[in-house]
Amino acid sequence: MRLVLVGPPGAGKGTQSEWLADFLSVPHLSTGDMLREAVGEGTALGKMADEKISQGQLVPDQLVTDLVGERIQKPDCESGFLLDGFPRNVQQAQLLGQLLAESKTSLDLVLEIKLGEKVLTQRLLQRGRSDDTVEVMRERFTVYETETVPLLEFYRDQGVLHSIEGDATREEVSQRIRGIIDAVTSD
Ligand code: AMP
Repeated sequence: MRLVLVGPPGAGKGTQSEWLADFLSVPHLSTGDMLREAVGEGTALGKMADEKISQGQLVPDQLVTDLVGERIQKPDCESGFLLDGFPRNVQQAQLLGQLLAESKTSLDLVLEIKLGEKVLTQRLLQRGRSDDTVEVMRERFTVYETETVPLLEFYRDQGVLHSIEGDATREEVSQRIRGIIDAVTSD
């Protein structure tokens, strides 16, 4: 299954991705993790990513898409993948669509985890990552609203978008995701 997980920062994408990738037997591809890895390695991409991440802004579309494009061509992605944090805007979605079309595939499901800003802020402050300060968080929410929300419309039009409410326990959210997966795979 080729799946994308979308949600505001702090909605639980990373946490849910872990069991879900395992459950579907597909690799979990987090662009945030890939970029943080590049930052740790101090590559040219890492230096550019570091600046954007610490400001809560997006790394340029083509750079992130190249990273993903390279990764999904590896043999372990042949029967599917779970993308976490990518695409983040319509431009990235279009680039991804082109990549997939070249290999005559497409996305099976885009899953949105919905959550209000109040709960998200509380969760993020508990997480304590270096880009989880109040100021950077505000910027990440703004970027989500302006860049990522239009992406939902794009995928709704394609008929692949399914949404769940994320304001529940981790287990309950997992159950809701299971429900969607079951419905999609039984189609
Ligand atoms: P995440 O771990 O998904 O919350 O991502 C952390 C940060 O990495 C984001 O705030 C962006 O600066 C950057 N990032 C992650 N994924 C993308 C993407 N698809 N496009 C652009 N920037 C990204």
